[in-house]
Amino acid sequence: MQEGMVIRTTGSWYRVLADSGCFDCRLRGNYRLRGSKQTNPVAVGDRVLFALQDDGTGIIHDVQDRRNYIVRRATKLSKQTHVIAANIDLLCIVATLGLPRTSTGFIDRLLVTAEAYHIPAAIIFNKSDLLADSGLQAMQHELTSLYRSVGYPVLEVSALTGSGLDGVAALIAGRTVLFSGHSGVGKSALLNALCPSLDLRVGDLSDWSLKGRHTTTFAEIHPITPPPPYHTQTTFLIDTPGIKEFGMVGFTVQEISLFFPEMRALLPDCHFANCTHRHEPRCAVKAALDEGRISAGRYRNYLAILDDIEETAGQYPA
Ligand code: GDP
Ligand code: ZN
Repeated sequence: MQEGMVIRTTGSWYRVLADSGCFDCRLRGNYRLRGSKQTNPVAVGDRVLFALQDDGTGIIHDVQDRRNYIVRRATKLSKQTHVIAANIDLLCIVATLGLPRTSTGFIDRLLVTAEAYHIPAAIIFNKSDLLADSGLQAMQHELTSLYRSVGYPVLEVSALTGSGLDGVAALIAGRTVLFSGHSGVGKSALLNALCPSLDLRVGDLSDWSLKGRHTTTFAEIHPITPPPPYHTQTTFLIDTPGIKEFGMVGFTVQEISLFFPEMRALLPDCHFANCTHRHEPRCAVKAALDEGRISAGRYRNYLAILDDIEETAGQYPA
């Protein structure tokens, strides 16, 4: 029996990357789905145990427990979910302050989703070359210290000039990584700069995915090794056509502050255990906000998320 990582799924075939090579595998006939809530038993990123057969293909006998995974609803109003990818080491949120301007609301939503899914997250501010001496540069520095103070790694880079890219290479080395962010922020340009052999189309207005290489609607993992001067280990890049679906599914108002680390830390000091930090008396989060220990911008984005949840309540099954 060998162990490997699923890097591609097509119908009933799974491509598994193991120490001894890459193998096309099928699932053992009597394999049972653990929960009926998921439509696919195996997703990219899953660690599996498989046995090679005489014809060179493999049979997957077991799927190891997932450290984390991201899902989308199988269909719009379905209770079933489809696992997009599993065992993600890092979500890299690519943002830009100019051309286009990424809102902190968008960044905070992605961070909340990452927290909820137990996926470590980092922020990469790209196109820093466009900000020289402008007010936007000061704003980028401010956001960088804000998010670092909350606990997230933040890099200020330029795919164009190469500035800061060694930091990105070090951040993603040896890890299974998902890049996310609005189109136009330079995800393709960043990845090309790190790994020219990827040869991604830059300037394409669609969502990022390794287009033209495959036509599947399933996610895929591409092992990439940045060449010198980066000298890093292989990175496993998650390429998902459904990246827009990486959003919040079925969250409740009560739990959102658990996904803001600086609020989560204060929750035990709130008078009410289920405090939503809006109008409740003796709220430690509001007190911290008044004293400037919590960012007013993050708090505003927090309230906006609560409003959204209340507006869509009932539309989405939890
Ligand atoms: P994606 O949609 O996120 O993959 O963005 P692309 O990689 O396609 O880049 C969108 C546009 O931004 C292209 O015209 C790139 O040339 C440009 N771009 C990407 N990175 C940078 C950068 O660091 N600085 C500048 N000035 N332009 C960039
Ligand atoms: Zn509170």
